[in-house]
Amino acid sequence: MQKVKLPVEVEPFRAAKRRLDYQGILPKEQMPRLTEATLAVETDAEAWIRFEVDSQGLTVMTGTATTEVVLECQRCGGAMPLTLTVEFQYSPVFDEQQMEQLPEAYEALELNENGEFHLHELLEDEFLLALPLIAKHSLEDCGIHTEEQSFGELAAQVEDMKPNPFAILQSLKKDN
Ligand SMILES: [Zn+2]
Repeated sequence: MQKVKLPVEVEPFRAAKRRLDYQGILPKEQMPRLTEATLAVETDAEAWIRFEVDSQGLTVMTGTATTEVVLECQRCGGAMPLTLTVEFQYSPVFDEQQMEQLPEAYEALELNENGEFHLHELLEDEFLLALPLIAKHSLEDCGIHTEEQSFGELAAQVEDMKPNPFAILQSLKKDN
């Protein structure tokens, strides 16, 4: 199947009047901030986006997008592949009043002076928001195993009790 590149900028009112559907890719090279925030972006993002006018007469963009990234596990430091999938609904607003009146299901879409928005950046923003605050493997997949974890807990307890944990660790090593 041929993959179509998504448009960079879209004028939502015109797109909604024409009931445009986009299915396409956002090349991973065009997501520099996501690349910066992860160990790697593994695949181009795929997105499905629909523009329409809802029953209230509001212009709405509904979409979903997915990509695969690699994060660093905060427990073992190993690579952790993760599929990011985002779903969103936006409606364009021109001022704060419109933003406040927007139905809760919609996020505010701000347009530039040409009445367009930057679709690539919006998708990248959605992926950035979907990143976990702390990335960790599930226990069975993690490089740190049970014994090492209990040792880590023991060391932490010792640290709480004694003023010099390094001396304790030294004596533990000697005992071994
Ligand atoms: Zn891990």
